[in-house]
Amino acid sequence: MRIGIHEGSTRFVVELSGSTKPRIFGLPDPYRVVIDLPEAIFALPADKTGTGGGVIDRLRYGQFQPGTSRLVLDLGGPAKVTRDFLIPPEGDGSWRLVVDLVSTDHADFVAAMRPKALPPRAPAVPLRTEPDGDSDDEDIVVIDPGHGGIDPGAIGRGGIREKDLVLDYANEIKRQLGQSGKYKVILTRDRDVFLPLRERVRIARAGGADLFLSLHMNANGSNRVRGFSVYTLSEKASDQEAADLAEAENKSDVIGGVDLDRYSNDVASILIDFAQSKTNEQSVAFARDSLVKEVQKQANLLPRPWRSAGFAVLKAPDVPSVLIELGYVTNPDEGRLLLRDDYRKELSSTIVRAIERYFEQAREAKRT
Ligand SMILES: [Zn+2]
Repeated sequence: MRIGIHEGSTRFVVELSGSTKPRIFGLPDPYRVVIDLPEAIFALPADKTGTGGGVIDRLRYGQFQPGTSRLVLDLGGPAKVTRDFLIPPEGDGSWRLVVDLVSTDHADFVAAMRPKALPPRAPAVPLRTEPDGDSDDEDIVVIDPGHGGIDPGAIGRGGIREKDLVLDYANEIKRQLGQSGKYKVILTRDRDVFLPLRERVRIARAGGADLFLSLHMNANGSNRVRGFSVYTLSEKASDQEAADLAEAENKSDVIGGVDLDRYSNDVASILIDFAQSKTNEQSVAFARDSLVKEVQKQANLLPRPWRSAGFAVLKAPDVPSVLIELGYVTNPDEGRLLLRDDYRKELSSTIVRAIERYFEQAREAKRT
């Protein structure tokens, strides 16, 4: 990939091993140009992300969804594509995709760059009236490894990536839960692929989840901060740190180039309020009464380890949901620990015990 700056326009060029017809569109807030290609292997040095030029502030790339790879050009302001074309190879060379961009205003950006044919929306999942289902049923746990594909999440020391580490933890928790034979476990992703936040919620609801766990790793400017923490949904954040964290985690869709316009409400908001208050009680019961109590026996906790804020991934109205920050990849000791197989097994078994405790208590409460 390279960027050329010409009089009044910015030229973005990417070399390809074959001919293709890319899908190119823009997204505002913040301004981005998205280029979708068939699933590709990126043969680019890692340091190519982050370099820009002209109207382009930054380049990002990665797998978006199975079958689609995505390049995202973060723009300094509104800019539209004036030309895009493919140049066939000369001799043994590569195909070249050329995209020319010029600065424009917001209205012109929206008019010119609006995505045309959008992929169809997944069908809405009907709201469950009885949030915790039938107690005779197998308990269904949906585990959501955060980030993935084009969105690496937090990057720690030595290049540890949140998206890889949380997938390892999700697989381990699934393995251990599976051993008991009492649970059905669904992963929202089982490989390095990007998923929009609402798609994660949809998978949980469509799968009939009784409990939803979104797994993450935290990062902090200070490398001294460490510890496990868990978050539930609230309109008003419990503290500024939780608010900042929710904002950072909610950026995943922006990083992935998701058009948020596509996400209108699946269900009437009045129903959400009704179902969500009961669901939220259950989320808090899991976070505070099960998870924190189990984890404190085994691992370091962040001060006030249960907090709340407006996390988009926790918005299933009828599924108790928590977001877990397993630890800080920016802390040298905790980062090393989180990478270790024995620590992963231990911390996962703690989480599994908390899940068992939660379902036992829920059943107990139903009987009485
Ligand atoms: Zn995260």
